[in-house]
Amino acid sequence: MINLVLFGPPGAGKGTQSIRIAGQYHLAHISTGDIFRSEIKNETPLGLKVRSIIEKGELVPDELLIDLLRTAMNRHTELNGFIFDGFPRTLRQAADLDDLLKETGEKVTLTLALEVDDQELMTRLLNRARIEGRKDDTEQVIANRLKVYQTQTSPLIEYYKRQGKFRVVHGKGSVEEILGRLCKVIDGVVE
Ligand code: AMP
Repeated sequence: MINLVLFGPPGAGKGTQSIRIAGQYHLAHISTGDIFRSEIKNETPLGLKVRSIIEKGELVPDELLIDLLRTAMNRHTELNGFIFDGFPRTLRQAADLDDLLKETGEKVTLTLALEVDDQELMTRLLNRARIEGRKDDTEQVIANRLKVYQTQTSPLIEYYKRQGKFRVVHGKGSVEEILGRLCKVIDGVVE
């Protein structure tokens, strides 16, 4: 199986690229952000619990992620593996993911980081706000999400680097160009 983590700050293009990679390699695309947005839209108990956290740009507590992930993964066992988009976001989540994969004798194959500068991220996210109207895409919340990424998520770079699983891909260019760069790295590792 191929288990990929697509890593990067908000606005780096993780969602756009994950969907394409999932299609190309027959992987299940698991986006915790999409799952939360759907729970909020359907006003489920989980959705009601996490809405204000997400609207502020904070992270949902780690202990709420593990069951969610297990359910999402169990739904897609027929494919070649998974691409995780927006997960893990903390060291605890990375350890939980390792444990979960271990249950079926699996592990993270590769972590791909999309690198985009802050100025470009802000431009992209404000643009997305105009198109999609996401509540967490206001300038103030975006600034907080970038800060949260720096403090809570970026320590994962070292975590995966130590395991020799971390690769950086330049995240600026056309969707197809960036996809090409990502696939080249994946093909070099999985073949
Ligand atoms: P995203 O669409 O991945 O940018 O996620 C949107 C928001 O959902 C984030 O800003 C967090 O509030 C929440 N979220 C998504 N994934 C996670 C995660 N793995 N851990 C904690 N919070 C998350």
